[in-house]
Amino acid sequence: MKEYDVAVLGGGPAGYPAAIRASQLGARVCLVEKERLGGVCLNRGCIPTKTMHGLAHLIELAGSGSDAGVSGSIKPDIAGIMGHKGRVVDGLVSGVEKILKGRKVDVIRGTGRIASAGVIEVEGVETIHAAKIIIATGSSEIELPGMEFDGRHILSSTDLLEIDRIPESMIVVGGGVIGCEFASIFNAFGTKVSIVEMLPSLVTSEDIHVIRFLQTYFKKKGIELNLGKKVSSLEVKEGAVAAVLEDGSQLDAEVALVSIGRRPNTDGIGAVEAGVETTGSGIVVNGKMETGVKGVYAAGDVIGGYLLAHVATREGLIAAENALGASRKIDYDSVPTTIYTLPEVSHVGMTSQEAKEAGIETVEGRFPFAANGKAKGLREEEGFVKWIAAASGRRLLGLHIIGPQATELLPAGILAIDKKMTADEFVSVILPHPTLGEALGEAAEALDGKAIHMLR
Ligand code: FAD
Repeated sequence: MKEYDVAVLGGGPAGYPAAIRASQLGARVCLVEKERLGGVCLNRGCIPTKTMHGLAHLIELAGSGSDAGVSGSIKPDIAGIMGHKGRVVDGLVSGVEKILKGRKVDVIRGTGRIASAGVIEVEGVETIHAAKIIIATGSSEIELPGMEFDGRHILSSTDLLEIDRIPESMIVVGGGVIGCEFASIFNAFGTKVSIVEMLPSLVTSEDIHVIRFLQTYFKKKGIELNLGKKVSSLEVKEGAVAAVLEDGSQLDAEVALVSIGRRPNTDGIGAVEAGVETTGSGIVVNGKMETGVKGVYAAGDVIGGYLLAHVATREGLIAAENALGASRKIDYDSVPTTIYTLPEVSHVGMTSQEAKEAGIETVEGRFPFAANGKAKGLREEEGFVKWIAAASGRRLLGLHIIGPQATELLPAGILAIDKKMTADEFVSVILPHPTLGEALGEAAEALDGKAIHMLR
């Protein structure tokens, strides 16, 4: 039986950084992974989708160039796109492998199962003994009962990332983050996209003004929205999918993407048998990432909550440090979110709806990219920046961006909100010109009606 200080089960964005941190702290570490290192994020999530989003953005921009004196068209070639995506993923996965090797983390290939606190059995490979165990087994796609993925017409996000053709038409079941990202990407590739969402709007966790803007933009781009509607059946007939909605209407398309959420990978990993408490949302941990079983920690999608790679990594790092004697607590107060639609969306802090529910009196400042010189030059004038601040004292509470580079513009706002800055403090810094970032300063000035490049 091999002996370690820390054993990590799962090598995704929670698990592999946890293993590296534990090694940096001087521990003997192993990481058990049954597939490729990097987890969902590197192999079939964040990285492949954002690589495709970048290419979709290129196509969309190129298509709008003729009125600016740049003509010609760019057409998507699916084999080329998939090839590029594969090379990006392979490069990053092999980078993770090299770092783990360089950090002397033993990577054990196989399916691990906790036999008891301190013991992991890797099926058909070996049994590991570790003083501390970090569970980071992630999450999987949810299927619609009776409408299971077939890999050809009823697709999961993983299937769509491996598709060998650009479908003529696609039904997206679920208008959350993943559904909307794929809707944007394939709309830019030329697919006719219809989204069916049972809630009254897309991406419900976003600010109401952002949601409205995105929905209007999607419709303008020809993406059909069926909001407040539920799919009651998906049937594959003669090489196409028919979706019957609860109101009796029917949508037909070449493929359907089912993106209705994810479930934690808690089955078959021996956690419950070892006494670890789980609910439908995942493994129960406290703020230190400790489960109820001494010496067993959990991090990432498997504990539910935010299903985001950057949150998974932070949780993994905290689990590793605490496993080795620290006493760190996770702080979810200013978790940023990004949505890679066209245009991009990002936010940190409160939405207008949340501020209202919390009974906080707020002021809002909005600035459109159409009034920003850099955005005009880039021909990316769609969208706006919106700050929410406390009415009294103007403490910044929320930043919402929809528009060009929204994801890259967010970090300044994350710092401002995390460090509890006021609008006055934010506008006291000089922002470079011409940049998209100036819109953040103008929107903060707009909280008091003082934006320079806007009449109201
Ligand atoms: P995972 O990434 O799921 O990794 C878990 C690992 O554990 C896997 O490699 C799995 O093989 C392994 N494993 C499981 N069970 C065992 C076992 N018994 N033995 C051995 N190994 C095991 N997040 C963002 O922040 N930004 C994005 O842009 C973004 N885009 C996304 C796009 C898509 C299409 C999807 C599906 C997700 C996206 N996410 C994004 C979410 C992000 O991918 C996850 O939050 C993140 O991967 C979670 O990391 P994790 O380490 O907890 O789990």
